[in-house]
Amino acid sequence: MDDLLPLDAPFDRVSVLLPLPLDAPYDYKADPGLALGRGAVVEVPLGKRRLIGVVLGPGGDEVAAERLRGVIRKFDVPPLPAGVIDLVDWVASWTLAPRGAVLRMAINSPGALEPPAATTVLTAVPEMAWPPATRLTPARRRALAALADGPALEPRDLAREASVGPAVIKSMLEAGLLERHDLPPPPPFQPPDPDRRGHALTGEQAEAAEALRRSVADRTFSVTALDGVTGSGKTEVYFEAIAAALSAGRQALVLLPEIALSAQWLDRFADRFGVAPAVWHSDLKPRVRRDTWRAVAEGTARVLVGARSALFLPFPDLGLIVVDEEHEPAYKQEDGVSYQARDMAVVRARLEGVPIALVSATPSLETLENVRGGRYRSLHLTARPGTATLPSVELIDLRRDRPERGRFLAPGLVRAVERTLADGEQVLLFLNRRGYAPLTLCRACGHRLECPNCTAWLVEHRLLGRLQCHHCGFSGRLPRACPSCEAEDSFVASGPGVERLAEEVLSRFPDARFQIASSDTIVGPDQAGEFVRAVNAREVDVIVGTQIVAKGHHFPWLTLVGVVDADLGLAGGDLRAGERTYQMLHQVSGRAGRAERPGRVLLQTHVPENPVMAALAAGDRDRFMAYEAEQRRAAGMPPFGRLAGLVVSAPDAERADAAARLIARAAPRLDGVTVLGPAPAPLALLRGRHRRRLLVKARKEINLQRVLRDWLAPIRLENAVRLAVDVDPYSFL
Ligand code: ADP
Ligand code: ZN
Repeated sequence: MDDLLPLDAPFDRVSVLLPLPLDAPYDYKADPGLALGRGAVVEVPLGKRRLIGVVLGPGGDEVAAERLRGVIRKFDVPPLPAGVIDLVDWVASWTLAPRGAVLRMAINSPGALEPPAATTVLTAVPEMAWPPATRLTPARRRALAALADGPALEPRDLAREASVGPAVIKSMLEAGLLERHDLPPPPPFQPPDPDRRGHALTGEQAEAAEALRRSVADRTFSVTALDGVTGSGKTEVYFEAIAAALSAGRQALVLLPEIALSAQWLDRFADRFGVAPAVWHSDLKPRVRRDTWRAVAEGTARVLVGARSALFLPFPDLGLIVVDEEHEPAYKQEDGVSYQARDMAVVRARLEGVPIALVSATPSLETLENVRGGRYRSLHLTARPGTATLPSVELIDLRRDRPERGRFLAPGLVRAVERTLADGEQVLLFLNRRGYAPLTLCRACGHRLECPNCTAWLVEHRLLGRLQCHHCGFSGRLPRACPSCEAEDSFVASGPGVERLAEEVLSRFPDARFQIASSDTIVGPDQAGEFVRAVNAREVDVIVGTQIVAKGHHFPWLTLVGVVDADLGLAGGDLRAGERTYQMLHQVSGRAGRAERPGRVLLQTHVPENPVMAALAAGDRDRFMAYEAEQRRAAGMPPFGRLAGLVVSAPDAERADAAARLIARAAPRLDGVTVLGPAPAPLALLRGRHRRRLLVKARKEINLQRVLRDWLAPIRLENAVRLAVDVDPYSFL
């Protein structure tokens, strides 16, 4: 019915969706003068509160007019585009989250709704216009002098330049010596220039760019997998598609997994387009966040690059979506509304009728299957431009080439590091473990230090002198005596983290300058930028890093990558463990030899015969993914079957068990649907809550959401018990 209404038809009764964990909208009456149409952003009363909401359409007539409350006001912002409202519905019905909870992600910058504050500047009143008998103190004289031949100044700047206090400025305004002017705020974003020249593209790059430009010109929905080895110029290619969208007068959205850390990406964008793009992530300052949201809504931000939440921004005229590193697990949000931003980006592209490019050197199995089935088009880049070649990958079998006791680098890797350093080149030692040691245990009795709130070991962070839980943030000092056997000073570290590895680097290569790169040492974009600068300036010889160095960076002098524990990601019950390990190690390997100097990658493993290791060594991604696909098809796992995780949590084990049993007893008995569990979750205790898991497996053709809704809707749980539904889960903890 909504479709038949013109978008701006005013309603005098409106149905308003509120950003609360509710599915249904509320009705309000509205002054026709407000001219409220679909998408209008309004303020409405609810109980004693005032809330921001979005008009979905005309209200119903069930409630008598005199019992309806009225809309308080309409915000002076463009209505939320249909693409966003439809996306909210879509995400809600896919994830089973209440519609209001999804809407909240789309309007989470309340400040953006108020008109932007004008800037006040001051000028001096000419002497002839001064009131009679004006007295000039030295302070007033300084203020006038500061304004004499410069530009108008903001009060704060005038106070600083003239070294006067705010009281002086106030009195001068009152005395008619200064005049106030309100300037409209400058537009926060300059338009990127699509016509600046990029690199001259290679043949295959030019072909791929042309294909994408044509999709942009078509203005219809299409999905393209842009699949090319690391360093083959995928970014250059999609920059051309962005340029095409800009030339057509439309906006472009680029999703990146960890925008805060990709200073290099922003620099490249500025090189190509002359200005910085708008940026969106969770750490923006409120002011920037507000201006950005509004600039997107008003269309003055033409290109926005952001983390997954950027998907819900109100682009009025989107022409292209790009999802870079589409295989990254970071696109899956686990807290609150649990959604897969890459998949929902495809949904948004479809709702908007625009092309989307999914970019990766190691596409997800989901994407590869869609290409195989003909639903997505695939563009391939096979070579690195210029003289850069792909690194050679070799395995070090830790069963034969063993590190010494208490050490973690095998002799083969040590020799390679020595040679690389002797050649004046750089080394990355990759270990995806923060801190000093993943496990601390008592030498006397074997007691392991565990988090009091979680089923997890405490991780020693020696630089901070503390033990930390990586799940809940618990932090404490290493106890002197073992809490179990009371032996004193008996704790030993077990296994390596990056800090412990750095210790080994220091003792083996005392002349090498090393830097630890983990989320503990590199916090935020400034430190990331400084890290990149230092490495490029060759102030660092050895990087000891976690996954934060795995992606995006381009270090011309880095020629050796040593993966200290290639098996690390393979353990655990995660159905994508093999795929992820492959992707991550491939990505890390891509850091080596990006420029003229050839790169070398050494993977330390206990299982060289594992298909992940064999494929990495052979450089045969397609064979590995075909093997993965076979395994998953045989097991009926995604993308060949459907899966949902249910996590029940409660403050005590009894209530968690009771609720999990209640849900399990009500489970549907349907052909093609299997319910596994309940069982204690691997993280049976998390942040003090006891957790039980159920896993629902269904054949591909089954409408899993409907099954879940029918099953769960009638179930009433105690207040203290929570049920989280995760459709297509990525985490099985
Ligand atoms: P990818 O996104 O596939 O990893 P990039 O687009 O980042 O690849 O390109 C890798 C490097 O090669 C970058 O430094 C880029 O500037 C450079 N490059 C890519 N294409 C060309 C080209 N046609 N001419 C010159 N340099 C190029
Ligand atoms: Zn914890």
